[in-house]
Amino acid sequence: MKDSGPAAVFDAHCDTATRLMQGDAIDIGRRLGDGHVDVPRMREGGVFAQVFACWVDPDIPPERWNSNTLKMIARLKKAIEAAGGGIEVAGSGSRIEELASIGKIAAVIGVEGGHAIGRSLEALEKLRESGVRCMTLTWNNSNDIADSCEGAPKWNGLSDFGREVVAWMDRAGMVIDCSHSSDKTFFDVLETTSRPVLQSHSCMRGICDVPRNLSDDMLRALAGNGGVVGINFFPAFLEPVCGARIMKIWNRYKAERSRLAAEYGGDVARADGEILDHYMAQLQDIPMPGVGAVVDHIIYAVERIGTDHVGLGSDFDGIAVTPDGLEDISRMGAVDAGLQARGLSVQERANIMGGNLLRLFKTVTG
Ligand SMILES: [Zn+2]
Repeated sequence: MKDSGPAAVFDAHCDTATRLMQGDAIDIGRRLGDGHVDVPRMREGGVFAQVFACWVDPDIPPERWNSNTLKMIARLKKAIEAAGGGIEVAGSGSRIEELASIGKIAAVIGVEGGHAIGRSLEALEKLRESGVRCMTLTWNNSNDIADSCEGAPKWNGLSDFGREVVAWMDRAGMVIDCSHSSDKTFFDVLETTSRPVLQSHSCMRGICDVPRNLSDDMLRALAGNGGVVGINFFPAFLEPVCGARIMKIWNRYKAERSRLAAEYGGDVARADGEILDHYMAQLQDIPMPGVGAVVDHIIYAVERIGTDHVGLGSDFDGIAVTPDGLEDISRMGAVDAGLQARGLSVQERANIMGGNLLRLFKTVTG
């Protein structure tokens, strides 16, 4: 880790793996003209570790959830191998540290949405064997493991199977990620697990009161557990007025997409092909908050729980709009500069920008 200059970055969440499924043509070893994440831009942003989340849409038929996740993991690994040696998959926190010490970026494979394993611990084991080291228990849908923060609850928190999943992940040294989980799921997990928990890409309800963000009670409980929250850069979670405008358009898009996908036998790509551009164009007209909004959420957390349990979870390549000044991962230094302007020390900034997440991964994955 560097002693001076911008702090080294560990980003707890990006959706670049989803983007890679669009075709073999996307070479993350080169500076791309679109999207948010590639190796040259990660280097520019001072990134030493990145969690790449593999997510499959629950709107596709359930029998394809697991196989499509495995396909995405294979595609991600291929893209990392093809990127020219500056980035490698890391299977543990100590490997992340080793790679950083020789100037390589560590790629951590994650899964977003426990529906990827259905009701099967064998499927979870298969994911781990494929290199997965962290998993969000839910996405925006409740599943066999637990309730999501969106939609109707199924279990009032963790299901019995969900408790088995938590125990299995604890034993196997996999990081449990509660972003997207319901509040009750989050507290159930803290009671069940013996490990520090990750909240990979969420913000503070005290500033922007949406279900995807953490209440002050959740924040304090997470610190008590030794966990880390990665602050999300999605403007809808950062700033309430901007958020309301985004969500109005987003919710219309999601409803129409689900309706069309069902009509097309689960073909979400076909649905997106018809409507995505239309909704994306509408989002571009909304004025966005600046980097200061991300810094505000970090400082809010720091004022309540100190500097040891806060990190970054950009959600790059999963968010259709970004804050002004944080257009892609090359801009990570702007967050560090913002923290410095608010009076945080070199050590505090190093912890927030990456050190806290490295500690969590070393504790859980070895
Ligand atoms: Zn997410």
